[in-house]
This record gives sequence, structure tokens and C-alpha cells, in this order.
Amino acid sequence: MKVAKSHKTPLETGLLVLVWVGFFVPLVWVASPAFSFAEYPLHTGPLVAGVTCFVIGLWLFYRSHADLGTNWSITLEVREQHRLITRGVYHRIRHPMYSALVLYSVGQALVIPNWVAGPANLSAFAILLALRMRAEERMMADEFGAEYAEYSARTKRLVPGVW
Ligand code: SAH
Repeated sequence: MKVAKSHKTPLETGLLVLVWVGFFVPLVWVASPAFSFAEYPLHTGPLVAGVTCFVIGLWLFYRSHADLGTNWSITLEVREQHRLITRGVYHRIRHPMYSALVLYSVGQALVIPNWVAGPANLSAFAILLALRMRAEERMMADEFGAEYAEYSARTKRLVPGVW
């Protein structure tokens, strides 16, 4: 679907670059000794908890893409024939894809035994969420009006029933 309205600002571009950097830091850790000064021993508890986060996070990521379909964009955009999705994993929370990516990043922080590479993705993603989520909700409210207001009133942002 073609983009009908783009709300991509320079801040959005900066945030996307930051998230890509956060995503690649663990690969640098795998491929080089650059962060060897920050290693610590990996224990079974965090490993099991981290793998559990990966499994739930990847499932939720798959489901949220399946439910959002052609309405998805990597940045803040409204597409032609954009529909507000309120079913499936969007039924109780407004940002299941972000919840999935938080779970994935928490998983990474738990299974990578390194103080730099472990939390890199989570830190970058936390900044993206803090600066993007409200702007995205404003964009959706402008586009879908009362329908989005009603949807917002009965859903949470990231954690069902909590926040
Ligand atoms: N914040 C959502 C979607 C992330 S993708 C989530 O975490 O699941 C970002 C794009 O998805 C936004 O630019 C917007 O165009 C679209 N979007 C967000 N919520 C939507 C919804 N409920 N229905 C349809 N499109 C949505």
C-alpha cells in the first residue's frame, strides 16, 4: 500500500538510526573482542529467563505483523486505505509490536553476558519508545478520531491490563 501521509521527522530518522546501532552492537560483540572488558559470567537463571523472553517476544512479533498486515510501517506513516486494527493481539494493547521488541531486547540483556552488548538494544529501544509512542498515538487519533479515542479508552499501551 502506498503511503498517504508521512509524519517522519528528523527525530524519527535519528531514532531509527539509534535502534539499528543498538541492534548491531551484539553482532560486534559476537564478531570481535571490542567489548571484552565488560564480560561477566553467564548463569542458568538469566539464560532460561532470556530464552523465554525470546520465545514469547518472537511469537508476539509474528502475530502483531500478521494482524497489522499492510497497515505496518517502519516509521510514522498513514497508508492508503489504512484501517485501524483492534483485533487479535491489538485487542487489549495498542502497541503489541513494541511489547514484542521490548521482550526481545530484555531477552538479549539477559542472555548476553556483557554490560555493553547485553543492554544495547534495550537502551536504544527504550529511547525510541519514550519519544515515539505519544507521537504515534497523536497521529492515529488525528486519522481515526472517535474510533481511536474509543479504542484508546478500553486498551492499555504495552502490558495488558497494566499500562
Ligand atoms: N505501535 C504499533 C505498530 C508499530 S508499526 C505496535 O507496536 O504494534 C507503526 C505503524 O503502525 C504506525 O506508523 C501506524 O501507521 C501503524 N499503526 C499503529 N497502530 C495501528 C493500529 N492499531 N491499526 C492500524 N495501524 C496501526
